[in-house]
Formats: sequence, C-alpha cells, structure tokens
Amino acid sequence: MYAPLKEIVEKDHLCIQSSASLKDVMDLMNINQKGVIVVLADNRPVGILTERDIVEILYRGIDMTDSVEKYSKKVLISTKGNRTIGYGLNLTIENNIRRIIVTDENDVFLGVITQQDLLKHIEEDYYRADVKVKDILRNRGQLIGVLADNTLSDVLKILVENHIGAVPILEEGVAVGIITEKDILKLASADVPLADAVGDYMTRNVVSCSINTSLVDIVKSMNTRQIRRVIITNGDGRATNIVTVRDVFRNIEGDYGKFLERKLQNAKDVLNLLPEMLIEVTDLGSEQLIIWANEGVTNRFGKDIIDKPVTKLIPQNSWEKINTTLKLRGRIEDVKIQTEHGIFELSGYFLNTDSNIEKGRCELIIRDITEDVKLTVTDTLTSVYNRRFINEFLMKEIERSKRLDREFSVVICDIDDFKEINDTHGHVPGDNVIKLFADAIAEKLRKVDVIGRYGGDEFIIIMPETPNKIAAHVTNRLRQQIADMEVAVADHSSIHVTASFGIASYPQDGTSSEDLLVTADERMYNAKRNGKNSISHQ
Ligand code: GH3
Ligand code: MG
Repeated sequence: MYAPLKEIVEKDHLCIQSSASLKDVMDLMNINQKGVIVVLADNRPVGILTERDIVEILYRGIDMTDSVEKYSKKVLISTKGNRTIGYGLNLTIENNIRRIIVTDENDVFLGVITQQDLLKHIEEDYYRADVKVKDILRNRGQLIGVLADNTLSDVLKILVENHIGAVPILEEGVAVGIITEKDILKLASADVPLADAVGDYMTRNVVSCSINTSLVDIVKSMNTRQIRRVIITNGDGRATNIVTVRDVFRNIEGDYGKFLERKLQNAKDVLNLLPEMLIEVTDLGSEQLIIWANEGVTNRFGKDIIDKPVTKLIPQNSWEKINTTLKLRGRIEDVKIQTEHGIFELSGYFLNTDSNIEKGRCELIIRDITEDVKLTVTDTLTSVYNRRFINEFLMKEIERSKRLDREFSVVICDIDDFKEINDTHGHVPGDNVIKLFADAIAEKLRKVDVIGRYGGDEFIIIMPETPNKIAAHVTNRLRQQIADMEVAVADHSSIHVTASFGIASYPQDGTSSEDLLVTADERMYNAKRNGKNSISHQ
C-alpha cells in the first residue's frame, strides 16, 4: 500500500504518438489488455483513448485510418510516480475513474495504473470480510443480455447505447457466455464481419457466483483470472446481475473505512449540484493534495486542479494558518482569503484518518465573495471606491503616516459647471460624463494613488507618500490631461470637461481626516473662484 506508484506502473504498449492511426491504437489495445492508450507528444500525455471510445468509433463507422489526434480526449486526472499505491487507490475511488495516468515531476509519461492493477496490491484485510455480493449490488434494473444468435453489430449497439462494457449471452436466463468491449476490439482488429452471430465468438467459461459469495472471494477470482467482471446468479442459476471491479472498489475498507463510507458516488453527485465550490484535501503529512473537487471548482479552475497541492487554490501563507486551525479545532468558519482569482470565504472541517496512507482529510466549502466585497466598497456608477471606503482608507493612511513619519496628500476634485452639462444634454448623458471622467482619472493616476467618488460630481484622490509640492505637480498634469480630452455625450457629439482641484497634505494642513478634508475643500473652492480648470495648494 505504501510503495510508490512508479514501482508498479506499466508503460509497454500503453502509449502512442499523436500521428498514429485509430487502427494502430486498436491493435495496441489488443496487446496491452488494459483498455486504454495514452497519446504522447514530446513524451508527455496529451490525450487518452479508452476501449469504450474505440467501440463507439467502430459503431459510428469511422474510418480507422484516421489520425488518433482528432478522437483522443483530454487527460483529465493524472498523478505523480512518487505518490503511494494507497493514494492512487483513493484518487480512483474519489473520482470514480478506472485508471490513472502516471507522470514524473516533469510531466513525462511513466505509465498507466488501472484499478485492477491496484487490486493486486491491496491486502485482503482491506475488503470487508463479512460483506457479500448481495450487500453491494446497486439497483440497476433489468440485467441487459443478448441471445447467441444475435449479431455482433447488435452487441455493439447495446454496448454503446447503454454505456456498458460487457453483455452476457443468455439461454433461458442462464449465462452461457459473455462478450466484452475488449472482445469486440479483438474481432474488429481481425476484420471479423459484424453480421456474424455472437454465439461463435463469446467467451464460454463465464465466471459466475451467487449473491451470497463474499467480496473477498470475488476479488481473488478476479485477480487470478485477470477479469474485470463476474456474473451474479440467483438460486436457480439464472443470471441477475454483473459485478465489476469498480463495484468492488466502492466497498473497500481500510483503517479509513468510515471515511469512504460517506463517499459513495451518489453523495458526490449531490455535491456537484451545489453552487458553492467544494474540495476535499488529503493530508499526506509532508504535503496536502486536492483529491476531489466538485463541478463548481472544476468548471472554474479546470479538472487538472485534482492531484495538485491545495496551495494552488489557497495561497501558501493563508493555507498555513487555515491548516493550523483545522488541526487544532477540527474546523474553520468563514475565513476570508484573497487570491489572484478573487476574494473567497472558506468553511470546512478536518477529519483525522491517521493511517499510514494519509494523516487526515479535510472538506472545504469555498464561496466567491469578490462581487459582494466589491459592492460594499465601490461606487456603482463609476466603479471607483465609494465614500465609505475612501474615508476608511484616509484614516488608515493617517495612522500609517504617523507611525512611519511620512507625508501624504488629499486632493478634492469637482467637475466645473456640471449643472450646465446636465441641462444641455440631459441627466443620463450627464451620468455618463461622470463615469467617463472617473475612468479617465483612474487610468491616468499613478499606481499608488487611490480614487473615490465622494458624491455628485465630486471625487477624492489620496496620494500616499506624496508631499504637497509633488502632489500639486501630479494634479496639475492630471488637470491638463482631463481638459485636453474629448468626452462623448451623444453619438456624434463630444465636449471638453474641466475640473477644479484642492490639495491638502499631512501633516502640515492637519493630522485628522476632518482637518485635511476641510482644507482640501476650501482650496478646491479657491480654484473655482480663480476661474475653474485650476488647482490650489499650500
Ligand atoms: P461648479 O463648477 O461650481 O462645480 O458648478 P456645478 O454646475 O458643477 O455645480 P455643483 O458641483 O455644485 O453641482 C453639481 C451638480 O451635479 C448638482 C446636481 O444637479 C448634479 N449631479 C449630482 N450628482 C449627479 C449624478 O449622479 N448624475 C447627474 N447627471 N448629475 C448629478
Ligand atoms: Mg461641480
């Protein structure tokens, strides 16, 4: 269970270059008997084709000399060769996949591991000894079977339409043979006519067992015969069901059995419906990996987020704090984090599974609150900061400058004769002028400066680390740029808009926000009195 995957991974006849044909793929699949081929470019996996894909291609009558490139699917879940068999097992169970692609640290293809391979490396005590086949059969409805004189093309149709991998051949309800996707590929490779009767090609010694057989015995039988499914019969020998490796896997029990119990795929399906993003993280001690993510997450970040360190989603320093709390209290609630993707609120819990495979698991709900946060700090018309935010920012800037003994400036700016613009062009174009005016200032400001709408046609700019003289210089340049600009008011008409600016600076003009704002406002009116389109400073 603890050996690295690279020690058991197989590579021979499992990969092909992207220039190969579908026929090449089919032939190779017949050799490898693993039901999968990985398409490589530059030794790295770029696509995958399964037995089921080929069966569907045959059914659709596609030209088998076509290049594989067109038909291969994206490799969705892959993992690294130094992860353990136990981890690989968890990854296939969580994501309900039959196989995983394994690569090295540089994404170079190392091979493929199927659930069946993993099965051979799991000790017997991982299967619940007391569980019988009847306990794990899910309600699948009627068993789908065919008669011996049905044609191969009938079988092909049934496999594709029902999304199943095998059908038993029934004679008065008793399974006398079985035919699988693998068999169909072999026959197609050998150019057997699809109009032939299935009875001539089915595998005759079909493995069947009663619903009272224990899971342990089924696994043994699958391992020794290298088969992926067994037929289940009732008291009078009639076939009633099929059990696959995947069904068995869902019922594996280790020292983390309780955890798995909650994790049947139905539960996952429900979690996929939630609007919130959900991830499950396995703690391997030295690292924490995302072992499962719901569609909310994979739709946004792509499916390859699975198997990646959790720090791909949550920045390292935030994760360290979250992880400590999770371990200490077992849960976190409404923790806000900022990432390159936005602002998120996290809640979740940690479950100690404490086995040699993993230390524990945590389940996290991730809510994107970027928009909510934006709404509370920005002005809806112009998208620059609102009055509340700019007031808070000003207080903090005073604190910071006090502590570090720095200077900074506050600029109040008011559009000249805005009433006239409203009166001439109307209120709605007036609104638009305010918006374009704000856009223009925001774009022309230096990176460190912060702008907010104080109300009406009035804006405030805070210039950190900027003494009055420099602020005057920056502001004057801004005033000129604005005055030179043409602002559209209607389809074919544009105007020039000017503004007046008053500048006050910390600490000379005041050390409280009130004093700074009053001084800046007085100076702004000075600028208006001086004929507008001008600035006033110390
Ligand atoms: P001054 O050069 O002295 O600043 O003259 P002004 O016409 O710009 O007058 P003032 O700044 O005192 O008033 C601005 C006017 O802008 C008041 C109001 O009618 C109008 N106004 C305020 N908010 C909005 C808004 O959101 N949209 C529009 N279209 N007009 C607004
Ligand atoms: Mg005005």
